[in-house]
Amino acid sequence: MIGLLDLQGGVVEHLDHLDRLGIAARRVKKAADLDGLSGLIIPGGESTCLGRLLRITGLDRTIVARHHAGLKLWGTCAGAILLAQRVVGGEPCLALLDVAIQRNAFGSQMDSFNTLAMVPAVASTPIPLTYIRAPKISDLGAGVRSLLAVDDYHAAVEDDVILATVFHPELTPSLAFHRYFAHKCGILTADGDEAGWHPEDW
Ligand code: GLN
Repeated sequence: MIGLLDLQGGVVEHLDHLDRLGIAARRVKKAADLDGLSGLIIPGGESTCLGRLLRITGLDRTIVARHHAGLKLWGTCAGAILLAQRVVGGEPCLALLDVAIQRNAFGSQMDSFNTLAMVPAVASTPIPLTYIRAPKISDLGAGVRSLLAVDDYHAAVEDDVILATVFHPELTPSLAFHRYFAHKCGILTADGDEAGWHPEDW
């Protein structure tokens, strides 16, 4: 089962994608909700707000402890910021992933955009990407691999136990990244069915 951190930010769309893959999922609001999970998604939203709520609830320490006990993590956008060990112009929160990350690196909300990219490790066809006040990842530490490098930054990275994306796969029709994370968590999914959308329409 995969959990969705449900303190603030975009939860429903992630749940919908997991549901479409036939993966059991649960909202995580308190420590007990982490019991029995193989993976936890930390969604996009507002990283300062999410970080504060994690500290107030004590979930920050619980998530770090569960991660060290095997819980896989995926952070999208604000979630990626919370996972990073080095935050340009900010304070690290969970500090589990050996990368630097710069908040709001593309400008304001008005500078949000959609694009398409090949991410060979994740899918054999182009994947739609949605950037919303996205950060940029850089300075990958030993053990961190880039899944998608663009210009001067990394848009998707992973180590053996953490996935981080600066964009929002849950806001696109593609299930590819959710399937990829499920596999990382040891959960098998039905074979890829990307029917219903076409790269030329995105
Ligand atoms: N810019 C936001 C932050 O710094 C993240 C935006 C997002 O998650 N879409 O928290």
